[in-house]
Amino acid sequence: MRRPTSRIITVLALALTPILVQSIYTPEAREPGSVVVYTARIEKLIKPMFNAFTTKTGIKVTYFTAKAPELFERLRAEGPHTPADVLITVDAGNLWIADHAGYLQGFESPIIEKNIPAHLRAKDNAWVGLSVRARPIMYSTERVKPSALSTYEALGDSRWRGRLCLRTSRKVYTQSLVATMIKTLGEQQTEAVLRGWMKNQLRIFNSDTQILKAIAAGQCDVTIANTYYLARLQAKDPGFPVTVFWPNQNGRGVHVNISGAGVTKYATHRAEAIQLIEFLSSRAAQNLYADANYEYPANPAAEPDGLIAAWGSYKADSVDVAAAGALQAAAVKLMDRVGYK
Ligand code: FE
Repeated sequence: MRRPTSRIITVLALALTPILVQSIYTPEAREPGSVVVYTARIEKLIKPMFNAFTTKTGIKVTYFTAKAPELFERLRAEGPHTPADVLITVDAGNLWIADHAGYLQGFESPIIEKNIPAHLRAKDNAWVGLSVRARPIMYSTERVKPSALSTYEALGDSRWRGRLCLRTSRKVYTQSLVATMIKTLGEQQTEAVLRGWMKNQLRIFNSDTQILKAIAAGQCDVTIANTYYLARLQAKDPGFPVTVFWPNQNGRGVHVNISGAGVTKYATHRAEAIQLIEFLSSRAAQNLYADANYEYPANPAAEPDGLIAAWGSYKADSVDVAAAGALQAAAVKLMDRVGYK
């Protein structure tokens, strides 16, 4: 149980947070014909789509951006008084947490069922994936031949000793990767894979971008990273000496995660909220949504951006992404056990 003092501090902290909150509490945000979004996706990425939605439907979108944990804290503290109708966040692990904390209500939509494949949606219809974020192997084009690469598991081969750099186990991306491995391979086999990586004197970094720059600088040769980080670096420098290897193509496929959305439990504009999410899943909006961050559309009818399409198509792991949430705790424990910091 939280003590009342910590609750007061939380409420005070929320009250003092200056960003955009005021526009959310304006009376028109509660009027019909408008919708309020709490989003962990940054303004630059989502604003063009909200504008397109408003142009199409006349429904006004008000939004508040923050990292997922802060949005969750807000939803918890505000309870039934929350102004939020829609929650948008990255990573199925986060969406699963939001669902299990009771921040979302399910909704049925034939449009979404048609637009988004089932494995990218919650079984209880609490949330739906809106973009796919692939997390393949990436390697130095200067020091690694792609023929040396095959699977995530094979990064435990001794040839990668002292050459493997990965993101910290504290990041939800790493936790989701390991959680979905546990789902498919089982805990024992996943542990063996992680021990293989550790044996290679795995070096840990705090961001994908840092690792990619370390590869370019010759400090590491291979990693696992989200493709949009590489796309950003390549957009600035087409000669950036790192590229993508699609692993596990003869097996389970490339690890993918999602960004996605759900209707909040206490949404006052439920119909508009559903309408917004349906719009975001549509083919036209999918390009705006995915391309803004060089992600892959979740709607298979939409084409990926040219820069990332150049890496070729890939077979994605079709494991239910909800496993990322359900097995997150097991993944954290497992990484702790093998010493993966
Ligand atoms: Fe990211």
